[in-house]
Amino acid sequence: MKNLVVFGPPGCGKGTQSANIVKRYELVHLSTGDIIRKEINANSAMGDLLNKFVSHGVLVPDNIILKEVYRFGLDHLNSKGIVFDGFPRNLYQAQMLDRIFHKKSMRIGLVISIDVPEDVLMSRIIERGKTSGRSDDTIEVMKNRLMVYQSQTQPVIDYYKKCNRLVLIDGTKPVDKVFEEIELIINERLYR
Ligand code: AMP
Repeated sequence: MKNLVVFGPPGCGKGTQSANIVKRYELVHLSTGDIIRKEINANSAMGDLLNKFVSHGVLVPDNIILKEVYRFGLDHLNSKGIVFDGFPRNLYQAQMLDRIFHKKSMRIGLVISIDVPEDVLMSRIIERGKTSGRSDDTIEVMKNRLMVYQSQTQPVIDYYKKCNRLVLIDGTKPVDKVFEEIELIINERLYR
């Protein structure tokens, strides 16, 4: 299996690029954000609970997320590979992912981190908020999301850097240019 993580701050284009990768390489897409939003939109008790975290821009507890990831992994053991989008979001999740994968003799072969400066992220999210209908696409919540990213998510970069699985790319370029770069990296690192 060709498993990879698409990593980066909110608004960097992870979702769009993950969808491009999935289509191009016939992989499956695991977006923890999408799973959470589906639950919230279903108006279930779990959805109400999840919304308390998401609408404040803080992370959903690890046990809830890991259960979803584990279930998704089991359901897709026969796929060509999984693109992780929005997961892992902290060091514990990254370590748990490696542990779960190790037990199944699987691994994350590549982590693509999409780099975009904060002022650009902020204006992208404000723009997206006009149509996305997401309670967390507002200036106030975005400030929190960026803080959470810096304090909890960014340390994951060092974790992957140490084991030589990380590639940084410039996410300020147009979407198709960013994807061209991603394709080159994936072809070189996963399909050579
Ligand atoms: P995203 O669509 O990836 O930007 O995620 C939207 C929100 O869902 C985040 O701000 C978190 O509240 C929550 N979320 C998504 N993925 C995770 C994760 N791996 N761990 C914890 N919370 C998450």
